Amino acid sequence: MVAKIIDGREVARKLRGEYAVRVSELKAQNGRAPGLAVILVGDNPASQVYVRNKVRACSDVGIDSKFIALPANTTQAALLQQVDDLNGDMTIDGILIQLPLPPHIDIRDVLERISVEKDVDGFHLYNVGGLVTGSTVFSPCTPYGVQKLLEHEKIPVEGANVVVVGASNIVGKPTALMLMSQDATVCICHKKTRDLAQFTLLADILVVAAGVPGLIVPQMVKTGAVVIDVGINRLPDGTLIGDVDFEGVRQKASYITPVPGGVGPMTVTMLLHNTIVSAERTLAASKR
Ligand code: NAP
Repeated sequence: MVAKIIDGREVARKLRGEYAVRVSELKAQNGRAPGLAVILVGDNPASQVYVRNKVRACSDVGIDSKFIALPANTTQAALLQQVDDLNGDMTIDGILIQLPLPPHIDIRDVLERISVEKDVDGFHLYNVGGLVTGSTVFSPCTPYGVQKLLEHEKIPVEGANVVVVGASNIVGKPTALMLMSQDATVCICHKKTRDLAQFTLLADILVVAAGVPGLIVPQMVKTGAVVIDVGINRLPDGTLIGDVDFEGVRQKASYITPVPGGVGPMTVTMLLHNTIVSAERTLAASKR
């Protein structure tokens, strides 16, 4: 068996086409485009690349982005004030704070300050808790991107054995919760999992988000499994690779995502989606 490669760039391109139409409709009805504020504190080079990509993606679909670059020595109080200002700004529908933040800043404090209605990254505790109770205002972008890829390929989740390798708060745990809410049977693995392969071999859908290049080799994958590789690892020569031995696992899986060009483009696309949904909700509320 040779897996079908899920082309995240193509799925993202299609969705962005649909989003551009929704943005035009919003502009026509509301007199303004949806607005996303992106805050970067400090000069982490990887964060600068991520932020640039997000700002460019906004302009591709017509979302107004407001990029706020703050120095690394910005105080917690000044950052909270910035968030307060954006919470009150009627032209801003979404607020994103690029992580990581400098060590002197209390990340949770800052994320909790973002209005739940503008928390388009889905990191506010209300939104995180909503993944458990089903009352999420916004789903976090990377797990949502994984879900959309499965939906696009019409891969059934209900009743499937899902194994998620990686248990971080921003990828592994929310992905597991989202797929569990669609009636998958979910297992989460992490660094302390003993004999990872005994779990991964059970997976109908294997989602890997560990940040360990080549962690998943063919012997760890059931024939016909769907393999979603969230990992992004930069090799010393600059090449990007995922957590899955792509060429090897491709011979055994039914579907596989490449890195780059798999989950990555979907993450940014879901940020656009959440910002548009926020603007649509605000417009609907203004008409009530
Ligand atoms: P993270 O916070 O470092 O979490 C990694 C998780 O993987 C942890 O739960 C860790 O276990 C687990 N892990 C590490 N080594 C393992 C191993 N050998 N076996 C089993 N589990 C292991 O990373 P993250 O933020 O979730 O990101 C994970 C990867 O996804 C990274 O490569 C990141 O660059 C990538 N990423 C991609 C996107 C995208 O849009 N494609 C978005 C976000 C992140 P413990 O909990 O025990 O430490």
